[in-house]
Amino acid sequence: MSIVIAIDGPAASGKGTLARRLAAHYGRPHLDTGLLYRATACALLDEGLPLDDVEAAVAAARSLSLVDFDEKRLRARDMGEAASVVAAMPAVRAALIDMQRSFAARPEGAVLDGRDIGTVICPDATVKIFVTASPETRATRRALELAGRGEEADYAAILEDVKKRDARDSGRSAAPLKPAADAVTLDTTELDIEEAFTAARGIVEKARR
Ligand code: C5P
Repeated sequence: MSIVIAIDGPAASGKGTLARRLAAHYGRPHLDTGLLYRATACALLDEGLPLDDVEAAVAAARSLSLVDFDEKRLRARDMGEAASVVAAMPAVRAALIDMQRSFAARPEGAVLDGRDIGTVICPDATVKIFVTASPETRATRRALELAGRGEEADYAAILEDVKKRDARDSGRSAAPLKPAADAVTLDTTELDIEEAFTAARGIVEKARR
């Protein structure tokens, strides 16, 4: 049976971990759509092009191949910031829509996480979850994650990043970060990953009934 799970939320809210866990639990493929924007930004930086070069960004977005992603590089801190710059360009977003929708249209369904999955990419998803947490909690989690990977993890700088990215992602006119009208909000500020996963599963089960 097809089941499409749409997970949206701000940077470092835990949506990626929840999406992976739900995908494994329900045996559905998972697409982290943030990687598409990160890879687009990365292609521009690799060619020494400015991030606001719309034509080059659209060309990069169109030629992305999911299998070539160097996830370690794409998940680095500076790439999140660069991704949010290219993600604000409507033409870049348009270039990435088909790839995301075909992923969601697999016969068995899929789990997608991002910023506009419930609002734009999969408006008819089986279930939509909007994952949030306070900026301080998100910065702490991101700092731990970066430290775990051996990257520099200055809490104050990361908190600044998180707030700046929230403002850019929520304030842009193209597909701004916001919950879909029919999304269930899951605030993970006070929850550990197991508690958040249990709550998310509860939301999915309720929607399937
Ligand atoms: O989720 P992640 O932090 O990897 O996303 C990086 C950036 O890509 C976000 O800050 C956002 O600007 C952009 N993005 C987006 N729409 C998505 C996924 C990510 O605009 N569906």
